Amino acid sequence: MEAQTFDLIVVGEGVAGLHCARRAAERGLRTATFERAVFGGLILNVNELDPPPANAPHSGAELASAIVEANAELDVESHPDETVTGLRATASGFDVIAGDSTYHARYVVAASGARRRMLGVPGEEAFAGRGVSQCADCDGPMYGNADVVVIGGGDSALQEALVLARYCKTVHLVHRRGKYRAQGRFVDRLAGEPRIRPILDSEVRAVVGETGVAAVTLLDRSRDATRELPCTGVFAYVGLVPNSEWLPAEVRRDNEGGVVTDGSFATSVPGLWAIGAVRSGYGGTVAHALDEAERASLAIAALAT
Ligand SMILES: Cc1cc2nc3c(=O)[nH]c(=O)nc-3n(C[C@H](O)[C@H](O)[C@H](O)COP(=O)(O)OP(=O)(O)OC[C@H]3O[C@@H](n4cnc5c(N)ncnc54)[C@H](O)[C@@H]3O)c2cc1C
Repeated sequence: MEAQTFDLIVVGEGVAGLHCARRAAERGLRTATFERAVFGGLILNVNELDPPPANAPHSGAELASAIVEANAELDVESHPDETVTGLRATASGFDVIAGDSTYHARYVVAASGARRRMLGVPGEEAFAGRGVSQCADCDGPMYGNADVVVIGGGDSALQEALVLARYCKTVHLVHRRGKYRAQGRFVDRLAGEPRIRPILDSEVRAVVGETGVAAVTLLDRSRDATRELPCTGVFAYVGLVPNSEWLPAEVRRDNEGGVVTDGSFATSVPGLWAIGAVRSGYGGTVAHALDEAERASLAIAALAT
């Protein structure tokens, strides 16, 4: 059977991929999007985006849904639940491989985002879904009046700790350095939240319990001493790993797997662009994702027409 052919295939239906597809379709490109799970990506479970996007819904799910609806009206062909497993350059563009199916496109945008980095400590996997969680907005209400531990020092960790402080008795905010690296406005808000207790210069070394989480083992790096900190919930936000494994070896990446691009988001392979959290040097917010999507779609449309 002949492969379905598009002007543009966008891999990933996070906010970057969805918006790029929308803007490309508005510029007349026959466009398809592929998503290995459901649309929305990392923002799907963020109820209140901070900063709130301008002139758009403030909940992640609503923002993504609004773009999905616009894409449907523009005849963007969405392939949910279809993981792209490989990419092959051809004389006229690319074969995009999704399991047993192959599609063809003149241009491809990698918008496959990133996934949470695991702590990699004993107990983390064993208690996943039984006390080890990745979503403050979804699971926070289950920890009403409980003690939880949030790990990390960046924007996501502090933002999620602030969400959990609405529900929990105590939120221990553990960071391995002496100071949080999140934006000042998040750090400043900690002072007004008596339920959040900062624990700096410390590392979680294990998650312990029997049927559910009962404590974490904490290393105080300044004193080189360990202790058990009782808690029933553990939320780790210790960075992201780019979802770039499906790309061929000739696509240049940094040491973390982030795809290297030029200023217009073109990769080392002609015809292939990368935007959003899969990209090396990505700014990290929804506003950055939307901006990169806009600029890449403009560059591609200029080539295509
Ligand atoms: C906890 C947390 C809270 C945040 N809160 C905010 C906030 O309040 N405000 C803000 O501006 N930013 C926030 N961010 C950052 C924001 O979520 C990201 O910058 C943005 O969502 C990145 O979008 P993306 O489309 O590049 O990637 P992603 O959201 O990661 O989307 C990529 C999509 O590609 C799919 N995919 C991956 N591989 C494949 C494949 N091989 N085939 C098909 N599909 C694939 C994934 O399933 C995913 O749906 C937060 C991030 C986190 C982790």
